[in-house]
Parts: sequence; structure tokens; C-alpha cells
Amino acid sequence: MRAVQLIQIGKLLENEDVPIPEIGAHDVLIRVAAAGICHSDAHYRAGISNFDNLPLTLGHEVAGHVEEVGANVRNVALGDRVCVHYLVHCGSCEFCVRGLEQFCREGQMIGRHRDGGYAEFIKVPAQNAFVLPNQIPFEVGAVMMCSSATALHALNKARIKPGESVAIFGFGGLGFSALQLARARGCGDVYVVEINSSKLAAAEKMGAIALDASVADSVEQIKQATAGKGVDVSLELIGSAKTMREAVLCLAPLGRAALVGLTAESMSIFPYSELINREAEIIGVSDHLASELPTLLDFARSGKLRFPPKALRVVNLDADQINAALDALQDSIDHVRTVITQK
Ligand SMILES: [Zn+2]
Ligand SMILES: [Zn+2]
Repeated sequence: MRAVQLIQIGKLLENEDVPIPEIGAHDVLIRVAAAGICHSDAHYRAGISNFDNLPLTLGHEVAGHVEEVGANVRNVALGDRVCVHYLVHCGSCEFCVRGLEQFCREGQMIGRHRDGGYAEFIKVPAQNAFVLPNQIPFEVGAVMMCSSATALHALNKARIKPGESVAIFGFGGLGFSALQLARARGCGDVYVVEINSSKLAAAEKMGAIALDASVADSVEQIKQATAGKGVDVSLELIGSAKTMREAVLCLAPLGRAALVGLTAESMSIFPYSELINREAEIIGVSDHLASELPTLLDFARSGKLRFPPKALRVVNLDADQINAALDALQDSIDHVRTVITQK
């Protein structure tokens, strides 16, 4: 089969001809229909992460048809439309038995520790395959499995309740989903903090209250808009110490700040006045859980989570086209997602 692989770190991906994977009793073989091209793939290609398993087929946002099922597979059947949960886990360690597979001791990420979806076929454990409702196109099913799933996990970690107000720092792929999912969960007012004018306009069009952090302090703006109270939940999706601190300072008493963005910077907090006195919480968010995917798929099926056609760009399973998309991603400022399609 054809696969587009990372052969050497720091080099372009290459078209390769590789054997179709052989599946075990608990696996499924999926004929890939769509695979999302993600920011982390650009990082992998650039060598920001270490790899000891090259060559590797990248791609952790995958949807397609079940082509073959192992003897012990019960949750999906031949021909099913499915999307893939990218965390392969043992199912029996202390974390897996509690449904917290992102901490699995033997956890592997698809397209990072094992071959991913930039290929005609992918082998995954059947427990990683989720039936994709007919109403959801493959392209959407694929990209949902990364940023949308993590946005939902962040809202869950922040324990968002109906009617609560939300501030979203950063309106890229995560923010685009987070706004819609917060709505789907019945939240109150949503404030989107951004410095990019086209993103602010997009957020406003989607019903958020857009706050331009390039013209005034975002915490001041949130306080002003909430009569001095602050918001119940904030999501930091940018990955900067400055906005992480703002995500804490904009909270109302009992507010929860969920930090999702990645940074190596440190952040300072005055424990008494900024946290203790208000019983505010800072919550770390990493990846998402298989148990959250049915809700996510249901929101997409019912139209509460949408990706308008303009938000998705399509390329072929071809190294040149994929490398060009990865180049564009490195300095992309829009939230248009590129998806490899094969139909
Ligand atoms: Zn991704
Ligand atoms: Zn485990």
C-alpha cells in the first residue's frame, strides 16, 4: 500500500510502498478515507520530539471504513464507518481501569509511537475505533479526534455547568471547537480573547463576545463586561505564561482556569489574593478520553459542533502535497484545517 512516511527527522516526508499491516485478534484494519494534518505533525517532522522508531507513518486524526476485523472484535463490524481514538492503551494498568488512559504506562500515540493514517490502511486495536454516524463526513470525523476532543476534555476538566460564563483565550482550532462545545453544554456568555482581527470577527459571527487584547488588557475587559465579577470558567489555548496568568485573573470567585496550551515558560501567581481568597482553581488538561468521544460524536451528529466546508481544505495522499500543508501549518494564523482524503 501507499504510505507517506517520516524517514529522517528534519527531512521532508516521503512516498513509500509498504506492506498492508497484518491484524491480530483484537485489531481492526481500516481503509483510511480521511486523515487530518495537525500542528504536532509539523513538530514531529521538524524533530522537536525524539523518534527511535523511524521510518514512521504520521497521522493521528483518522477516519475510514473497517476493512478487516480480528476474531475477537465485537464493537465494530466489517464495512462500518469509524473514526479513531489516537491513544492506544493497555486497558489493564491502574490508570486504564479507571478510564484515564492518557496516563497508561504502556500508552502509545498513533502516528507518533506507531504507524498512523497517512496511508491507504491503518491497523488499530478495535477499542480505538468508534462508529462514525452517517451524518458526519469523514473529514470532520478525522479532525474532531484531536482538537475538538481536547476542547471537550478541557470543558469537562473545568466542570462547566449550564449557565456559567466562559472566557476562551485563543481562537484557533481548539477555540473554534471550544466555543461550539461550551454552547452545546448550555453555558452562558462566552468571551473570546484574541489579537487577530479576522479571528475576532469569526468568533463574533459565531455568537461570542469578542475582546481584542491588542487594544486593552483582556482581564480589565472581562471584568468590565461582567460588572466586576469575572467568568466562571476560562480556557487557555495559546500556550503563553502571560495569557495563562490572565486566564486565572479573569476568574470569578470559585472560577476554574483550564490550561491547555503548551509552554516552557513559568507563570507567577500571588497565592492568597489571586487563588486562595477566591477559591479559584488552576487545572491542567492533557489530551482527552475515549469515554468522551460518544458525547463529542453526538454533538457533531446533531449539528451542535460544525465545521463549515470553508474550514476544511483537502489534499491527496501525496508527500509533496502533505509537506506543503505542513509548511503552511508552521506559520498558519487561520483555523482552516487540511485533511488528506481518499475516496
Ligand atoms: Zn492533532
Ligand atoms: Zn494502561
